[in-house]
Amino acid sequence: MAAPLSPIRSSDTGRRASLLDSLEKSELGWFWASDEAGRLIYLSEPALDRIAEIEGHLIGKQLVDIFEDDVGTEAGSPHRPLKFQFAARNSLRPTIVKIRTGAKTAWWEISGAPRLSKSGKFCGYHGIARDVTASIASQRDAEKLSRFDSLTGLSNRHRITQKLDTTLDAFRAAKRSCAIMLLDLDRFKQVNDTLGHPAGDELLKQLAARLKRLVGERGEIGRLGGDEFQIILPDIEDRGELGELAQRIIEMVSQPYSVNGVRAVVGCSIGVAIAPFDGIECQELIKAADLALYASKGGGRGQYRFYSSDLRDQAIHRHQIEEDLRDALSREELEMYYQPIVSATDHKVVCFEALMRWHHPERGQVSPAEFIPVAEEVGLIREMGEWAIHDVCKRVASWPANVRAAINVSAVQFASDDLIDTVRNALKSSGADPARIELEITESVFVGDIDRALRMFRDLKRLGVRLALDDFGTGYSSLSYLRDAPFDKIKIDQSFVRGCTEDGNNNGAIVSAVVSLAQALKMETVAEGVETKDELEAVIEHGAMSIQGALFSRPQPASVVEERFETGELVYEMLGPEKFRSDRRTEFRKIGLVHENSRYQVFLRNLSKSGAKIEGLLDVPVDTDVVLDLGGGQLVVATVRRSQGYSQGVEFETQLISDGADGLCTRHRVSPYQIEAAGRPLRALNDDEVTTYTGASSAGEKRFMEVDLVADRENSH
Ligand code: C2E
Ligand code: MG
Ligand code: MG
Repeated sequence: MAAPLSPIRSSDTGRRASLLDSLEKSELGWFWASDEAGRLIYLSEPALDRIAEIEGHLIGKQLVDIFEDDVGTEAGSPHRPLKFQFAARNSLRPTIVKIRTGAKTAWWEISGAPRLSKSGKFCGYHGIARDVTASIASQRDAEKLSRFDSLTGLSNRHRITQKLDTTLDAFRAAKRSCAIMLLDLDRFKQVNDTLGHPAGDELLKQLAARLKRLVGERGEIGRLGGDEFQIILPDIEDRGELGELAQRIIEMVSQPYSVNGVRAVVGCSIGVAIAPFDGIECQELIKAADLALYASKGGGRGQYRFYSSDLRDQAIHRHQIEEDLRDALSREELEMYYQPIVSATDHKVVCFEALMRWHHPERGQVSPAEFIPVAEEVGLIREMGEWAIHDVCKRVASWPANVRAAINVSAVQFASDDLIDTVRNALKSSGADPARIELEITESVFVGDIDRALRMFRDLKRLGVRLALDDFGTGYSSLSYLRDAPFDKIKIDQSFVRGCTEDGNNNGAIVSAVVSLAQALKMETVAEGVETKDELEAVIEHGAMSIQGALFSRPQPASVVEERFETGELVYEMLGPEKFRSDRRTEFRKIGLVHENSRYQVFLRNLSKSGAKIEGLLDVPVDTDVVLDLGGGQLVVATVRRSQGYSQGVEFETQLISDGADGLCTRHRVSPYQIEAAGRPLRALNDDEVTTYTGASSAGEKRFMEVDLVADRENSH
């Protein structure tokens, strides 16, 4: 008779180890672990063997470099990008990831939990993984076979991509154009999270029906997976028409849905690219539309955006920033600057906002508006934020007792439970009085888990620090959350301060409303970004208690503000101009001008839909017809209406249209097919390129005299 099996107890480490050992070998599941910096430190040997043959050394690599987000699974539920999950140190629910090993792709399902030390410090992840390549592959095959997305009935990724590929091939030969739109829903994850996946599915079905109705015969729609869609629009190259369609899609998609009797709302961002202008091949065009989509999301969502080659340059630039930022902290390139927040009554400083500055060895000072979002995306913000909190606390400890310092806390930092410890440690090691530390938090923290946010607020308040709500009114304002959140202060965003002195502008009324709201909730108010005396008067009249802005001082190095402490000068003088002038934004960029057979270089100023002011040519007679070359194949026929010395006002024959962001663009562009016909290779347009499509040359007989404005300006200074 066999001996009865005895249960394995947790104290029996030997038997547990061998159980785990055999589990690892059985291929049923593997284990993995990472360190606090996100590097892989352990992976079960059979798994290592499986990918290491091609990948070499995996141990020590960043998790985000090994595991890729998988967006191709139609059934795959949309989740936050892995990068974000790891950066936020969230626990990882079972997630399908892609692992690229040379030419082969494998799919694993991974899950994991953060490991914490006894003192609660994050020390990495541990988790399990299993290979699901076979089932994903058969699912993919089934999808390919069906060619249609079973949920919405739209073409699936495979079919729409194939369709685009064949369309572009055929159109190239026939010299036809073809636009594509990439759509990505905003806030769809929240619908899934709050109403459940079946409700999310129902919403997608209704949304697809709306898209079909709107696009009709004009194009073909596909669902790429999750909440991403693509629309192919043959024979449209008019950006005016495309912009209108994109705008209508955004409006239509953003109308509320009724799913199972509950109201749900999503938004939508769109990127547009047009062949052959923005890309010739399928992949090139998709990449272009993708960059445009990324830009429209970054521009505040609920927008469309046309691709322009600037976006590609920006993407390259951003990648460079990302690379350099990794070393910024260790190379001591970061420094906190301080901007005073003064009392509205006596202009005495009550607080300094600490603002991070990056002194880049080659680029000089890089703006936080540029590097903070990158740091958030790649997870560096936590380290940088931790450094900032420590640095500022140390400063404050040596400052006069009546001044506070405010530190900006990003939503990504806020999403991590470490924040509490970081603040506690910084307070302890610096000895700073918690009541003199203020944390500035933006509304975006309300987008996630509200209960968690409220818990975090409470825990932070327990440490004794003050909380300020930053950039109020620009994000996801919800008054009901504000009521429950223990903020000490609301910062009114500078976009409301700007222009609040102008007649017929609502900003003043908004400032008043925010102030009354803050008073009702017993919170203080700060008006941000006050630049002029009339703005100061206006915000004071509307009730703001404290003022921050260039009118008093721009952010300065700590040494500069500390000099004031020595002399006891805590009152700030006004430095700014009297009045806000709304026409300060002027363009100053070089463009081409073609007249008869000559090509000139002029400076573009004050571009509007119907005309522009140009500088650089002497005494061009009124009524002269010219062609402006705005770059990227954008030619505008214009007539000189006013002329004085080297400056002319021109009127456009056809109005420009919005590019979806702040800028303007032409409806049509010179087609790469025309350029090809002129004997040059077929390729997408480039914005910087000043074109010679017009046949005009910059040499030869010129009718007008060119003035060297740059030299002129330098001489006059
Ligand atoms: P913010 O927290 O809203 O900071 C105020 C911004 O307005 C600062 O821009 C400040 O220099 C600028 N400003 C102040 N007065 C005026 C004015 O009169 N006119 C104009 N035009 N601007 C004014 P800055 O320093 O470029 O920072 C931009 C944003 O970057 C900050 O907005 C904040 O969101 C973020 N940031 C800066 N430092 C940090 C940091 O240490 N950590 C985190 N997480 N974010 C930071
Ligand atoms: Mg701030
Ligand atoms: Mg702000």
